[in-house]
Amino acid sequence: MLDLDLTNSRPPRATISTADAHFISQDWSAYSAEQHAVWSLLYDRRMDALESTASQVFLDGANIIGLARDHVPNLAEVNARLGPRTGWSAVPVDGFLPAPEFFSCLASRRFPTTVTVRSRDQLDYLPEPDIFHDVFGHVPLHAHRVFADFLQRVGRAARAARSDEQTHAMARLFWFTVEFGLIREGGDVKIYGSGLISSHADAANALGPRCERRPFLLHDVLAQPFRIDHVQDTLFVLESFDQLFAAVDEAATWLGLEPA
Ligand code: FE
Repeated sequence: MLDLDLTNSRPPRATISTADAHFISQDWSAYSAEQHAVWSLLYDRRMDALESTASQVFLDGANIIGLARDHVPNLAEVNARLGPRTGWSAVPVDGFLPAPEFFSCLASRRFPTTVTVRSRDQLDYLPEPDIFHDVFGHVPLHAHRVFADFLQRVGRAARAARSDEQTHAMARLFWFTVEFGLIREGGDVKIYGSGLISSHADAANALGPRCERRPFLLHDVLAQPFRIDHVQDTLFVLESFDQLFAAVDEAATWLGLEPA
């Protein structure tokens, strides 16, 4: 999970990533019956709605990686399905990662993933990421070849950022795509961003009358501020994932980022 509070974000002091310090292991056998039950509840509540509101890329990806309603995902099993398709893996971490470490992981096709399960009294509001946001929300997209390549390029470009301006611009690209992206499919606007996939309230806002849905134009995206503590007033609608793939290289060129 990326720490999008950019007041915490500083360019890396060295080219060697320190993400290793955040890696943990997932002790899948330690999940309680209550934690599996909470997962099932979250899965049912979202998947019912997602059948008609989510991008087909998410729905296909959820099948490919083997998301199941009856148990918390075992990352070893997820990765055994995901790796052969796109080379991505979900790696367990202990919480938020600072931007340089997070983007370095993406550059090597590793997605930092929290493994905790929220409690039953936090089904709808969660100040910290958990496995439902990180795995249910993010990882299905990583089974799609174009999105998988896009996400690695985001990491490669963003980890080359050396100024606040460059870091903030790449964070906006990440926010309005990976976290809160919309895409037109079959004439309808569908959700694919993890913050929308994993949250009923955010998804309802994104598709509702109060959110302005603008065409995905890279310059507009990079210029659009975002709030992490508020529902989104403005989101951007892609026409295809190929458009997304082109946008990241264009962004890197505009920002003068040399992907390392
Ligand atoms: Fe996220």
